[in-house]
Amino acid sequence: MRDLYAMTRDQLEALLAEWGEPRFRSKQLWTWLYEHKAGSFDEMTNLPKSLRARLAEETTLGTLTLATERQSTDGTVKRVYQLSDGQLIESVLMPYRDGRRTACISSQAGCAMGCAFCATGQMGFARHLSSTEIFAQAATIARELAERGERLSNVVLMGMGEPFHNYDNVMAAVRRLNTDLGIGARHITISTVGIAPKIRQLATEGIQVTLAISLHAARDAERSAMMPVNRRWDLEELLDAVREYQAATNRRVTFEWALIAGKNDGLDEARSLGRLLQGLDAHVNLIPLNPTSGYDGAPTDPEQAARFVAELERFGISATVRVRRGIDVDAGCGQLKSEVLRRRRTPPEGAP
Ligand code: SAH
Ligand code: SF4
Repeated sequence: MRDLYAMTRDQLEALLAEWGEPRFRSKQLWTWLYEHKAGSFDEMTNLPKSLRARLAEETTLGTLTLATERQSTDGTVKRVYQLSDGQLIESVLMPYRDGRRTACISSQAGCAMGCAFCATGQMGFARHLSSTEIFAQAATIARELAERGERLSNVVLMGMGEPFHNYDNVMAAVRRLNTDLGIGARHITISTVGIAPKIRQLATEGIQVTLAISLHAARDAERSAMMPVNRRWDLEELLDAVREYQAATNRRVTFEWALIAGKNDGLDEARSLGRLLQGLDAHVNLIPLNPTSGYDGAPTDPEQAARFVAELERFGISATVRVRRGIDVDAGCGQLKSEVLRRRRTPPEGAP
């Protein structure tokens, strides 16, 4: 089923033209969607009954219903959507001064990987998202940006969920981001916790996406304690898969490292990381931990982060400390959804 809310105006016009409808029908339909925010086809009283019936049969009115939206002082817009079965997912728009517009989208409702520091991991797994549900998050943002003359330039699969645990749907969505929204594969980043066989599979796809690996520790004991997935595919196997991917694609790989004070931000850890990545075409993104209620850890301060970067540079590894966008709107992975759930559990004022 095609989701009308996931279609561009051109796509909508093309669909109705294909059905032999006159041009003004697509304008009427667009008005129902974006001025009246129609939730059913019955409301669209100026469309002929036959057209409404066909729309109801062959299309849907959005897989995404907005549950909460917050705008941060840095321009970040964070949203929680409710899916047709009630599941909640997050997506984020991050505008950058250089003109880039990046959408951070979810691949699953919840996540089964259980990383200790992650709000989504702390919720557990609910279900995979369909490729339409994944695509629609970016398509919605792209459409809104287009309306104000801006273009969605980048998409990162860094919202809720582990993309490689939902590999086929993610790849189908990625292909549509490329063909339907015109986002170059190089501007699409898939971030994975490190599911080695899927990294190998990606190497065979012939698609030039950017691969990001969430590492966070450079020794197996520490990584397994934070990220249970490491017990299944340890660092050696993970790095082997990355080398295979790099040999096949010649693409630089990004490694994500949440800097946690006193835990993985020492110079000793930096040296272990430097040694681990030796010989790879790699870049390290260091993100000071975004504290979550289910994990007892604090972000590294900027001075220590700078020392960590300098130590990595001694190994010839480039690294950047990233500012967490939208920190004032809970724009960390899974955090706004946790807040929405908390609010729902809180009884209304005056309740016994
Ligand atoms: N499941 C994928 C993608 C979603 S998470 C993955 O794990 O890679 C996106 C990024 O946010 C990952 O690098 C993840 O490790 C990181 N992350 C999760 N919780 C975080 C937190 N509390 N602080 C900082 N980074 C966090
Ligand atoms: Fe899942 Fe990624 Fe969170 Fe780990 S960090 S629990 S893989 S969403």
